[in-house]
Amino acid sequence: MSRTTDQPGRAVAARSRHTFRTFRSAGRRAEAALVLLLAVPPVLSAQTPATANGMRGGQPVDEEYTRLIAEHLQDERITTELVDYLPASETVPTPLDFHGRIVGTPGELTYAADIHRYLRAIADASPRATVWSIGTSEEGREMILMAIADEQTIADLDSYGGYLKELTDPRATSEERAEQLIQDLARPIYWLTSGMHSTENGGPEMLQELAYRLAVDESELVRTIRDNVITFITPVIEVDGREKQVDTYYFNKDRPEGEQRLPLMYWGKYVAHDNNRDAMGQMLQLTKNVNRVQLEWAPTIMHDLHEQQNYLYTSTGTGPYNEAFDAITITEWWMLAENDVLQMTKRDVPGVWTYNFYDGWTPNYMFTIAHAHNATGRFYEVASYGPDNRTLRVGRTTTSREWFRPNPPLDSIQWGPRNNTNIQQSAVLFSLEYVAENRSLFLDNYWTKNQRSVRKGVEGPVHAWVIPAEQRRRADAVDAVNELMRQGLEIHRADDSFEAGGLEVREGDYIARADQPFRTLADMYFSLQRFSLDNPRPYDDTGWTFQLMRNVVIRPVEDPTILERDMTMLTAPAPQVGVVDGGGDVIVVDHTTDNNLMTFRFRHAEVRMLAAEEDFEMDGHEFRAGAFIIPAVPAPDRSTIEASVAELGLSAWATGDVPDVPTHELDVPRIGYVHAWRRTQDEGWVRGALDHYGVPYTYFSEQKVREGNLRARYDVIVFPHVGGDAQTQVEGIAMTGELPLPYQRTDSTPNLGGIDESDDIRGGMGFEGLVELADFVRDGGTLLVEGSTSAILPEYGITTGVSVDDPNGLIAPGSIHRGIIADPTSPIAYGYAGEQLPVYFKNDLVLSTGGGGFGGFGGGGESPWQNTAPMARLPELSPYEPEATEEEGEEEDAEDAEMAEFRALARQFGFGGEDEDGPRVVMAFPERADEILLSGTLDGAQALVGKPQVIDAPVGDGHVVMFAIRPFWRWQTQGTFFLGFNAILNWNDLDAGSQAPEPVTEEGSGSR
Ligand SMILES: [Zn+2]
Repeated sequence: MSRTTDQPGRAVAARSRHTFRTFRSAGRRAEAALVLLLAVPPVLSAQTPATANGMRGGQPVDEEYTRLIAEHLQDERITTELVDYLPASETVPTPLDFHGRIVGTPGELTYAADIHRYLRAIADASPRATVWSIGTSEEGREMILMAIADEQTIADLDSYGGYLKELTDPRATSEERAEQLIQDLARPIYWLTSGMHSTENGGPEMLQELAYRLAVDESELVRTIRDNVITFITPVIEVDGREKQVDTYYFNKDRPEGEQRLPLMYWGKYVAHDNNRDAMGQMLQLTKNVNRVQLEWAPTIMHDLHEQQNYLYTSTGTGPYNEAFDAITITEWWMLAENDVLQMTKRDVPGVWTYNFYDGWTPNYMFTIAHAHNATGRFYEVASYGPDNRTLRVGRTTTSREWFRPNPPLDSIQWGPRNNTNIQQSAVLFSLEYVAENRSLFLDNYWTKNQRSVRKGVEGPVHAWVIPAEQRRRADAVDAVNELMRQGLEIHRADDSFEAGGLEVREGDYIARADQPFRTLADMYFSLQRFSLDNPRPYDDTGWTFQLMRNVVIRPVEDPTILERDMTMLTAPAPQVGVVDGGGDVIVVDHTTDNNLMTFRFRHAEVRMLAAEEDFEMDGHEFRAGAFIIPAVPAPDRSTIEASVAELGLSAWATGDVPDVPTHELDVPRIGYVHAWRRTQDEGWVRGALDHYGVPYTYFSEQKVREGNLRARYDVIVFPHVGGDAQTQVEGIAMTGELPLPYQRTDSTPNLGGIDESDDIRGGMGFEGLVELADFVRDGGTLLVEGSTSAILPEYGITTGVSVDDPNGLIAPGSIHRGIIADPTSPIAYGYAGEQLPVYFKNDLVLSTGGGGFGGFGGGGESPWQNTAPMARLPELSPYEPEATEEEGEEEDAEDAEMAEFRALARQFGFGGEDEDGPRVVMAFPERADEILLSGTLDGAQALVGKPQVIDAPVGDGHVVMFAIRPFWRWQTQGTFFLGFNAILNWNDLDAGSQAPEPVTEEGSGSR
């Protein structure tokens, strides 16, 4: 249990800052001076005379706070007896004492740093609470965790953490001991989290009042909670985004009416709303910090507070539910949700409902971290905190009375931050009470899930998964192993070679035993997904199979004898073991598409390296085109090169002579990186990959593209997915309003700016910018675009021979599809072995080369009835066997033949013909519709048949490399990163291997 107690010195330092912040955020108001007075030091409620009127359950009420609750509440139906008052305390400061205002005060928001200081003030004053740090964000801000329970439990908190860990592992804990823990000793941990989505303001505010109430309230309900449950609170998960949000709110509050509002630009350093889609990839610090708490404390329930529905949605989802989740978990979702609905409808609070939002399928949400470890995750979506009062009107689809919504929201209501506080705080208290009253049940459920998990591995059919240590992408396989371990999966290494289930397991191979509690994670990640199209529309991705996305080999073993083999558990990250074989001054590094090759090139940017343009054989080893050839490695570089090869897990051979194969220089490019102010949601995943592998770049907005002179400064420009069509991407944020719209760090917006700044973010790149971008390419630059930005140049006619399709009937939510390497001689395909590669695709863009789209075929007729067993009819997957040679696809059915014939005919008439200067299709969808889908779902696949996935379009002396697939999807698609990396590394030699003659200007100004 690595829990650190706060140092007193730190609290003092924090307090002096508090004075400033409180003043700052309330400074616009006349009461600023009063607030200051109240804030230093935290004072106790003075205004609590214990009149008969001012008592609740024998405890005095904080009358001023209670009066303000009533004053700020906009509709008296949105309350319960749990939250319409605040108990007084002689020792613990209320939010009003501390911040100078109650939670739910209109027109005010609280910085995460101030929320944290308040929770620490509670912990300083109450033996029932404690606070500690759980790590920092990319921008260095702290995330915290508060624990609240009865005094004895808090004093002995580590023991309670230990009890839950005993219940986690039935291999180490006996039935008798488990029974004792369940009936007597252990307490469930109920972990409330919020502030992940920075535009959703209320959860972090409400949790302050809840923390106070849980610490001081002497009502029977709250005492039951304190005595039976350990409440964990992390008020703000996205601490970077929260501070930007508060800055942005006050900035906009000062803007004159009619002027454009500043949108919340960046949240964290890398991603915005998708911070809640990182549970599988775990690129972000906030995800890693949450994961670590789950592993250290085994919270029984994780409950995340959001704000996207009316008035309070309590999660269950429409299904289909993730197939790796235990049936107990799913039933727990429903028990907890129905208790919420019951308790709130019983009190005539309208608009509390469940079921009809989100599905429960994809495991990329933050709370999947609970599910992957056999705990339970749930969430609320509450009507927004604001923080301004307003009239809230909702439509018929929200107000109709349905089975899942027995007391629906009203057509219209006065809403405000106190409504938000009351409704979610009440429901959370009922949930806590429910778990408190069913303490042993939830503990027993948790124990049972862990037992069943282990038993599944013993009984099979899958008894283990083997990750061969010697595989083509060896370094990435080690990364995958280490990521799985970091997420809590136990990994062993085989002590000897043996055979199991028809599989040769070699000494040193990695084994994930299926008889471990967290095998749930392995099951969920390694399985193939089949999402029936009869379901409601999927909420997010439908396919995510880990080994396909990462292009590593992981094999299930259906032979129980593997569990008896000698193996040793890894207790530290698996090391990378790269080697330089042989002797001589020339070093050849195999291009395996291991992503560390990118680090290798940029770490040794001064060292001359060549790329082999063809496959070749040397010293009995087969090299794929793209191999790095280092012609002469003089000392002292030799030792640093060898050290890098070893550390990065690469495979290299030393030899006497440069091998006899055509080559080109791997000129290290100067990279420009363009983002759009209109949306900073998606580009961060690409930026994160460049940062991770040590690739330097200059980061600037699309507005700066207008300034021109790009080719003089950059060799490669990366412009990742923005979203929207070509026109909106060129136009950027509209030039409406009189005033400029700045995004800058100032005294009043200390958390804005930093990553990038502009004194006016309106205007986009415009036509001038587009022309500059085209000139950059024409003058020999390489432009790398992916997703929506791939549509810009074709739509504006800058690239010829590429068009954007608008296929009918294509339904392709995020899934894994087969990619065919159509041109293995293109440098973009360097290193990839075989003829195919799994790719992530979602239908935000379908490209064509030549004659344009053929459209797809829609699904069957719509049935008017709801299908109550949608998963009874599953889509067919096409099996993916990376090492098999391609023999399929020889028979075409009549329909395919007809299509092919039509296309051939079209080409004869000059449609879609490929002349020498035409675009080069590097990767494409298969020629047969039934070979496309590998994992997830797909309908109207005919629209994708033969369509390009990766295009290299020459323009003048340069190239536009377009991705219709998403090679850098959410830190999950490590297997396709190198398609982008190859384009960067070989930026001025992309014509290599093509039929077209090489441009003569090739080694121009751009080298180096
Ligand atoms: Zn949200």
